[in-house]
Amino acid sequence: KTYTKDEIRELVKTEHVEFLRLMFTDLMGSIKNVEVPTSQLDKLLDNKLMFDGSSIDGFVRIEESDMYLHPDLSTWMVFPWGSEHGRVARVICEVYTTDGKPFEGDPRNNLIRVVDEMKAAGFTSFNIGPEPEFFLFKMDENGEPTLKLNDKGSYFDLAPMDLGENCRRDIVLELEKMGFEVEAAHHEVAPGQHEIDFKYADALEAADNIQTFKLVVKTIARKYGLFATFMPKPLEGINGSGMHMNMSLSTAKGNAFYDADGELELSETAYHFLGGLLAHARNLTAVVNPIVNSYKRLVPGFEAPVYVAWSGSNRSPLVRVPSARGNSTRLELRSVDPAANPYLAIAAMLEAGLDGIRNGMTPNDSVDRNIYSMDEKERDTNHISNLPDNLHNATKALQSDPVMKAALGDHLFQSFIEAKKLEWASYRQSVTKWERDQYLEQY
Ligand code: ADP
Ligand code: MG
Ligand code: MG
Ligand code: MG
Ligand code: MG
Repeated sequence: KTYTKDEIRELVKTEHVEFLRLMFTDLMGSIKNVEVPTSQLDKLLDNKLMFDGSSIDGFVRIEESDMYLHPDLSTWMVFPWGSEHGRVARVICEVYTTDGKPFEGDPRNNLIRVVDEMKAAGFTSFNIGPEPEFFLFKMDENGEPTLKLNDKGSYFDLAPMDLGENCRRDIVLELEKMGFEVEAAHHEVAPGQHEIDFKYADALEAADNIQTFKLVVKTIARKYGLFATFMPKPLEGINGSGMHMNMSLSTAKGNAFYDADGELELSETAYHFLGGLLAHARNLTAVVNPIVNSYKRLVPGFEAPVYVAWSGSNRSPLVRVPSARGNSTRLELRSVDPAANPYLAIAAMLEAGLDGIRNGMTPNDSVDRNIYSMDEKERDTNHISNLPDNLHNATKALQSDPVMKAALGDHLFQSFIEAKKLEWASYRQSVTKWERDQYLEQY
């Protein structure tokens, strides 16, 4: 639903909104807030609110720093939690330059651009259903996060209710107040780890939802003295947090991946999309697994994918075709983790799939047996390659792919690669506890 300017003015009055929180997302996926009192409402509605773009990671240099925020009124939402100082409404904004053009370094603008490309190719929506996982850690008396977990629970555990479970219920309630349709919420495999799944939405709305979701989870966790983290692998030796992405394309006729007469009841379009997704899987890894720590999750033994393969029956490969058909026909990419900038991740997946459709790509045969029990030779015969094993290799793969460059656009592509090279260089200089444990006494 979208609102007119007058409706927004009315809502501010009837809902007693005192502050407007203007949100956008930087290169790394962090939510940026500009908060203004409602006296600035008219300015906002006229697209005249300015901020300093040079203060934002990966945006622009000092000399071109004036930027404008254009509110997307369909994202208007009053936060359900109150504040003594009046209620706060948020609206997600598009970043514009002083000459009135959408700023190319804004990940949300870029996703809008790629979605337009998709529409030109005849599709009406790119449906995304994310499955974000996160850990809840205890906070110390200073409100700083610790690495102490507050439960020993496990997958679908029915253990007596603990703080984490109450907290998760409260998160679900807040999300529902904000219009989310929560489909499932459960304890995950690791202690202290949770998953909340909400209903799929079209690309842009799904990315906005993921950002809002993270904000709600972190906000509510604090009320319980807990710290929520979406870091992919906070603890070694136990499962990390992923954010599986379920995806499908629609046309005016419905789900474009479904064909009752197709092999596995999948359409030609689904196979071409899958072909593209697999062909670019290595190269888009840096985007969907964007930090050094992401690669500590993508290792054998912890339910995270390591090899490039797909299956219609096995749950462990990179791309799974869940068994539901009809309107729920979809592909699930299992490498994605919640550190990913959702706007960039969705743009990269969409562009990869569209490339498959444009070029009539087809995937290799599905692999329906356990890949982890194959040796290297067997994987070779089955054309199974590895995902990049660290951020350095992932960044190199990304840099080599013109389709990924098209997915991010020149500005974001360059600044993303630059930032990732710096991140790797900094990591490479660090000396870890593991190294001292291994070598200090041995040499
Ligand atoms: P899993 O079996 O992997 O745990 P879940 O049931 O937890 O999967 O999550 C499924 C996700 O897929 C939900 O977010 C759901 O809304 C989404 N989904 C369902 N149908 C579609 C579709 N056609 N396209 C994209 N996502 C879909
Ligand atoms: Mg799930
Ligand atoms: Mg699951
Ligand atoms: Mg899960
Ligand atoms: Mg899943």
